[in-house]
Amino acid sequence: MNGNDVQSQLKEAGIDILKCMQCGMCTGSCPSGRHTSLNVRKLVKRAIRSRDVLEDNELWMCTTCYNCQERCPRRIDIVDAILKIRSIAAHEGIMLPEHRQVIKLFLQYGHAVPIDEVNIKKREELGLEMLPETVHKYSDALDELKTLLEVCKLAEITDQHT
Ligand code: SF4
Ligand code: SF4
Repeated sequence: MNGNDVQSQLKEAGIDILKCMQCGMCTGSCPSGRHTSLNVRKLVKRAIRSRDVLEDNELWMCTTCYNCQERCPRRIDIVDAILKIRSIAAHEGIMLPEHRQVIKLFLQYGHAVPIDEVNIKKREELGLEMLPETVHKYSDALDELKTLLEVCKLAEITDQHT
């Protein structure tokens, strides 16, 4: 796949980033960019030019607040583009180590943040049941969830590039 393929996949999804005129309104509206290296204007430019955008850490710095998309004078679905590019990257096993860790927890416990002893104790202090009404409590549901995740090949995706 080359850069144009990323851009063509966006086009197929109804997102035309080629309309970008590099005005910078998106970057100026981006709260995340004030605290991170994210420059959404440049990210769009890289998505037009090269598949290297899939490896770009800035891809994961967007909080999906939609400020940029609401203000883009060319009405480009910028956030939808970012989400689609993330999806393409993830399907190729390209993600941050933190994502990989969260997915491993999800595969094992059915929760991205599984319950721990501290939270169990807090629940008891609050008069709640030890376990919440989730897969933590119902092992059959956890088995079903694991079957679904297996069908989705989530573990295989996560194991790529490790
Ligand atoms: S606001 Fe829209 S047109 Fe302007 S740089 Fe960002 S994506 Fe391109
Ligand atoms: S949606 Fe993402 S890229 Fe757009 S302004 Fe918000 S944080 Fe920035």
